[in-house]
Amino acid sequence: MTLPPTQDLGHGITLIDSGMHRPGLAACYMMVSGEEAAFIETGTTHSVPGMLKALAAAGLTTEQVRYVIPTHVHLDHAGGVGLLMRECPNAELAIHPRGAAHMIDPAKLYAGATAVYGEATMQRVYGEIPPVDKDRVVVREDGSSLSFGDGRNLMFLDTPGHARHHFCVYDETSNGFFTGDTFGLSYREFDTDNGPFIMATTTPVQFDPEAWMNSLDRMLGYEPAVMYLTHYGKVEDVPALAARLKKDIQYHVSVARECHANDARHACIRERLMAHYLELLSLHGCRLPQEQIRKLLEMDIELNTQGLEVWLDRQQPTITG
Ligand SMILES: [Zn+2]
Repeated sequence: MTLPPTQDLGHGITLIDSGMHRPGLAACYMMVSGEEAAFIETGTTHSVPGMLKALAAAGLTTEQVRYVIPTHVHLDHAGGVGLLMRECPNAELAIHPRGAAHMIDPAKLYAGATAVYGEATMQRVYGEIPPVDKDRVVVREDGSSLSFGDGRNLMFLDTPGHARHHFCVYDETSNGFFTGDTFGLSYREFDTDNGPFIMATTTPVQFDPEAWMNSLDRMLGYEPAVMYLTHYGKVEDVPALAARLKKDIQYHVSVARECHANDARHACIRERLMAHYLELLSLHGCRLPQEQIRKLLEMDIELNTQGLEVWLDRQQPTITG
């Protein structure tokens, strides 16, 4: 399956592939209203040229970019912020209250990500992460909103669960949420006649299943027609997908608990998650060769395993015995 570098999703929304790791892994979104544009999600530093190309193709200049809006400060979402802000001189950075400091001084963020991914991967995948001038940062509290262009309104919802520095962005015009990682992962390679496949992402270090369920319920309260996932693209049939995602989050919790006492805890979790998805994908009607499915899921399952282990260690007093 080949995915194009950009897709027009209607309502002035363009998906731009971040180019990170492989096509179809991580999306950025450009939203155009009147004479202005906003970027939601920024991929990595290496994603910025593709975003500027899409901007030019829409007939807009970098001066017309009003907002840069990463859903949270994980580097597949916010890694390109510094460079994009440098390229777009009039843009303001709209960010979760817990994320702002990391964008103004990204050193800690970079070090944290290096601990997870290793130095070589950091250099190759993410490159440099320039800081953002604090005068250009606008913190968006839960329930606050902003508008740009012809009065296009975006509302911010605090959505912990995947990360505590995560908000989702509600777009009235399309009745859709830009969900970052809060609506899980849904790769287009796994689409079948049964529709999209959805899975949880429990990446280190702030996975919180109870908070996540609440965040999903709050989003569903808006009765959104569509969700724009960073990983990857637009999905519909929101209530059914939400129910499956909730089940998958619970499954991750039960696997973590069952593997906790295992001497090879990491391998136990990782192998059970892989077996779980191979089975679910087969039931979903996915006809890809098993080897290819394993390759597509490898990285997410490794990160999910690491995140569950961090969560287990945080929970330890209540779950041992
Ligand atoms: Zn992500």
